[in-house]
Amino acid sequence: MENKMQIFNTLTRTVEPFVPNEDGKVSMYTCGPTVYHFAHIGNLRSYIMEDVLEKTLRYAGYDVKRVMNITDVGHLSSDADTGEDKMLKGAKREHKTVMEIAEFYTKAFFSDCEKLNIKRPDVVEPATNCIAEFIHMIEVLLEKDYAYVAGENVYFDTSKLKDYYVFSSQNEKELMVGVRDDVDEDTNKRNKSDFVLWFTKSKFDNQELKWESPWGVGYPGWHIECSCISMKHLGEYMDIHCGGVDNIFPHHTNEIAQSEAFTGHKWCNYWFHVHHLNDKSGKMSKSKGDFLTVSLLEEKGYHPLVYRMFCLQSHYRKPLEFSYEVMDNMENSYVKLRKTAAKLDRGGTFEQEQFDEYKEKFLSALENDLNTSMALTVVYEVLKAEMGDKTKLELLDSFDEVLSLDLTAGEVAEDNGVDAELEAYILEKIEERKAAKKEKDFAKADAIREELLTKGILLEDTREGVKWKKA
Ligand code: AMP
Ligand code: ZN
Repeated sequence: MENKMQIFNTLTRTVEPFVPNEDGKVSMYTCGPTVYHFAHIGNLRSYIMEDVLEKTLRYAGYDVKRVMNITDVGHLSSDADTGEDKMLKGAKREHKTVMEIAEFYTKAFFSDCEKLNIKRPDVVEPATNCIAEFIHMIEVLLEKDYAYVAGENVYFDTSKLKDYYVFSSQNEKELMVGVRDDVDEDTNKRNKSDFVLWFTKSKFDNQELKWESPWGVGYPGWHIECSCISMKHLGEYMDIHCGGVDNIFPHHTNEIAQSEAFTGHKWCNYWFHVHHLNDKSGKMSKSKGDFLTVSLLEEKGYHPLVYRMFCLQSHYRKPLEFSYEVMDNMENSYVKLRKTAAKLDRGGTFEQEQFDEYKEKFLSALENDLNTSMALTVVYEVLKAEMGDKTKLELLDSFDEVLSLDLTAGEVAEDNGVDAELEAYILEKIEERKAAKKEKDFAKADAIREELLTKGILLEDTREGVKWKKA
């Protein structure tokens, strides 16, 4: 297969031709969410851009297999081995068990993904499914002398590697080592940069999820899960691994350390990292300021795909600042775009040459280190071009295989200012009221009307049936 894709590789810090291990096939791994809370729209920026990467590779003709983990154990508040277990924090906050929290927020994550037209990866594997694989990898690391037991935990010995800080320049390495020297860390560690593979001597006596292991009852560290889950489904050689930039260190650095110590050879060739979405005060987080979720955007009246378009307008390697002003502009552009496409007529002749020309232009933009804003420009060029409607529509359908903006789904419905949950409730109550009236239970019918009014919803009986509006 001809390789035209060029992508920035964090490992080499350059834009490189993308050449997979096996011709025409791509193995791709994505660090999945830690399911202790809703994803914020910053997290979802990473998943949108990874989705575009996957779809671009498919569009270019590759057969992609994509795997994602779900972190439901082992991720502590700090990405190093300190702080509270995030899942336990979620369980305490909501007075539920860890597995209830995991189930609820995994569903919520995929529901957000669906709203944003993010394709579900081919394989999704929760960490708690793979304890045997983690134990096996840790046993091999101990046998090969890359790991040691201290204070009843198992640690990875980073001094055994020629180059542990694979993603960093010499200056950065010195800085990182310097910073780590100041941190008051676990005294069991032989080197400051060592990390936990398996905890038994846990600081958290109330840790809910624990498993038998050769080192005692305990639970895995966070990093080991991605090495094992990716190898379980993609084998020992991987083409491309994705995540947000905060994953570069320590998470991805540790993944490489374990995986290459385990296999004895290079593991993954390309590393794709999405820069952060920030709010005005800096990096978005779940603990400070407005906790921005897809549902919050919907409550404020935005179509979720407006946020997808917001992300596509900017390059994945640049930090992106969220603002409602830009979202408002984007909403206007999106509504207009859908309206323009809705006016096109599917009949007429199809112009193959024009189709090929624009498709090539669109793909070239994406093959140039995923230039999504240029790809969107091609959409506007097509709409303005001297070309039959049929060809334009076929091009939009084709581009939407990657952009996933529902470009040809008709006009965006007028927003009625009510979220989907309340709308469903109103419709249910209208049906109940109809039934009450039929049974001449007018008191009940009136009570339903009053109850909706307290929610700000006014019912009107018209000749065409019952209508509702905001009071
Ligand atoms: P987590 O659920 O914390 O493990 O994070 C899920 C994904 O979101 C990871 O790939 C992170 O690197 C990424 N991420 C976290 N914060 C942001 C942000 N503000 N902008 C973009 N991506 C982020
Ligand atoms: Zn990971």
